[in-house]
Amino acid sequence: MNLIFENSVPGRKCDLVPPCDVPVCEMPQGLRRAAAPRLPELSETDISRHYTKLAERTYGVNNGFYPLGSCTMKYNPRINEEMAALPGFTGVHPLQPEHTVQGCLEVMALAEKYLCEITGMDEMTFQPAAGAHGELTGVLLIKQYHKARGDHKRTKIIVPDSAHGTNPATAVMAGFTCVNVPSNPEGGIDLDKLREAVGEDTAGLMLTNPNTLGIFDKNILEITKIIREAGGLSYYDGANLNAIMGEVRPGDMGFDVVHLNLHKTFSTPHGGGGPGSGAVGCKAILAPYLPKPHPVRDGDTLHLTMEGYPDSIGRMKAFYGNFLTVVRALTYVLTLGKEGIPEASHNAVLNANYLKHELEDTYDIHTKGHCMHEFIITLDKMHKENGVTATDIAKAMLDEGIHPPTMYFPLIVPEDLMVEPTETESKTTLDEVVRIMKKIHAMALEDPAHMHELPVNTVIRRPDEVKAAREPVIRYSFDK
Ligand SMILES: *Cc1c(COP(=O)(O)O)cnc(C)c1O
Repeated sequence: MNLIFENSVPGRKCDLVPPCDVPVCEMPQGLRRAAAPRLPELSETDISRHYTKLAERTYGVNNGFYPLGSCTMKYNPRINEEMAALPGFTGVHPLQPEHTVQGCLEVMALAEKYLCEITGMDEMTFQPAAGAHGELTGVLLIKQYHKARGDHKRTKIIVPDSAHGTNPATAVMAGFTCVNVPSNPEGGIDLDKLREAVGEDTAGLMLTNPNTLGIFDKNILEITKIIREAGGLSYYDGANLNAIMGEVRPGDMGFDVVHLNLHKTFSTPHGGGGPGSGAVGCKAILAPYLPKPHPVRDGDTLHLTMEGYPDSIGRMKAFYGNFLTVVRALTYVLTLGKEGIPEASHNAVLNANYLKHELEDTYDIHTKGHCMHEFIITLDKMHKENGVTATDIAKAMLDEGIHPPTMYFPLIVPEDLMVEPTETESKTTLDEVVRIMKKIHAMALEDPAHMHELPVNTVIRRPDEVKAAREPVIRYSFDK
């Protein structure tokens, strides 16, 4: 398929600029371009067809099953988009006087209230633009807490070996050293190893529960107690709250700070890296350190203030973060309500267990017993016996028109696929997926060599992933 630049025909255009209704102001000579920008020249039909063709070549959650473990690629209700498109929200400027944006401040205050209720936290910021950004914010709160107490020896953050890769990266970015704690055979944290790891240098722990193996660690109260007694704080990576929202709260598990990916559980489309929100909630002991400004209620009016927060870690992003993502999250919470929120997480867990159960007699499932919102398949045995890898299975799924699961993550399971069906898939879809997955498995046993040739039905077959990552071509070269 051509790039839009390659479709350009000199002189072809479709601009319909309205007549200028303000005095014309000449741009000073020194600020002008020497030559006009090399924009593609096309008719409206050309442009429309080009982008339609591109859209047809992408795969999203509106096309079909998208079981990307840990990513929560669920259907995002259209009403969220309708609310986020209201002119009262899209037409505001962040520097407008406060009394003209009371509705927007109300959205932030209400979303904070409900999400604090769901997480068991006291205050929340919406500044961080993504999960990893929220992690950095949360860990900086922990750092500031120890600093404010003059406790300078706490330089280490404990992270289990099943953690999402962003956790150790965050700890290091925030200036800490990472201490890795191994999992026990059940997939939870090894308590003895945790006791050995903590000490006077422990700043805190970063944990996801359920973890990336899809297992809820039943020792969670003991884990956060060990950290607290060592003088550390506990950070809950709530990027993916799909398994527990409305059911258990990080605040009640003993955590002091949590981030939520509003673009996962709270329903903003995030394929392709669209705007996200890594909202960070914390207990009152950490609230003085939150990024400011923060909406504060004074009678009937909401104010945003920077004053009176001398210990704040400062801004994490311009203005107030990705505000329209907060509008979507609030819409989602209000439409589901108190009954709908736990029902969504129950169905996420039910769907994962159903799929796992239906695949158990065909595939090796690493997650033993009941899983939460996701589970892990391992192709290790198949790989050793006939050379078929997790990648081969994933490529075969592409051929069948469904999106593959997350691959080779978590790192502690060889040749793994991490499956998260989410609550928005019907039994009909899941049954169809089971049929496809079984068919692929049979194909892998019958003709292993052929599996390395797949996919054959897609536009692009097997791209060189290393080259794509190391030498990305992201600029169009006019000279070729
Ligand atoms: C997705 C995810 C993250 C990272 O979130 P981003 O928005 O991609 O930065 C962190 N932790 C867990 C457990 C996740 O699933």
